[in-house]
Amino acid sequence: MNPIDTLTQLFEKFPGIGPRQARRFVQYLLVSGQGTRLEIAEVIKNLGTETSQCKRCYRWFVGKSGTCTICSNPARDLSLLFVVEKDADIEPVERSGFKGLYFVLGGTIPLASEDTQKYIRERELLKRAETESATIKEIILGLSATTEGDHTRELLAERLRASGIKISALGRGLSTGTELEYADPDTISQALGNRH
Ligand SMILES: [Zn+2]
Repeated sequence: MNPIDTLTQLFEKFPGIGPRQARRFVQYLLVSGQGTRLEIAEVIKNLGTETSQCKRCYRWFVGKSGTCTICSNPARDLSLLFVVEKDADIEPVERSGFKGLYFVLGGTIPLASEDTQKYIRERELLKRAETESATIKEIILGLSATTEGDHTRELLAERLRASGIKISALGRGLSTGTELEYADPDTISQALGNRH
């Protein structure tokens, strides 16, 4: 197969990227010149060797220390655990001024499915709730205001009940259909204030 088609197919595997956008990316690389292509290739190569997944919250970070800068920061509030769908959700929550810790689920559960472990890190979350039940006072299920987000939140709230920890959801402020990733810090701060 020729490199143009191969690269187009690789880009099509990226989330949210269709064939037309994939071709535009390849076109961009073709006209950018060898310097840019080598720079991108080098950064991609180093992505694997210079980063790791946090053993505690499961987000990706630069470093090899086992836990990320948020999880290893002694100034964070250990009593609050904010559960997010994906890494990108953490940034707007950080900007809203949240000082607790995080847990990255890795996705949401499709409506028809109850086989939760296939889509999210449910076992890992339940284990953390169990082992830290003396420290964690509240678990905030900060899922998107979408039907899958609602479904996931309901299932998790049910399964976390045995931990005895208070379970809450983000309050009004996040409009229906909004993904946390795209919410502005003020909205998140308001939704956190109104959590129930
Ligand atoms: Zn972490």
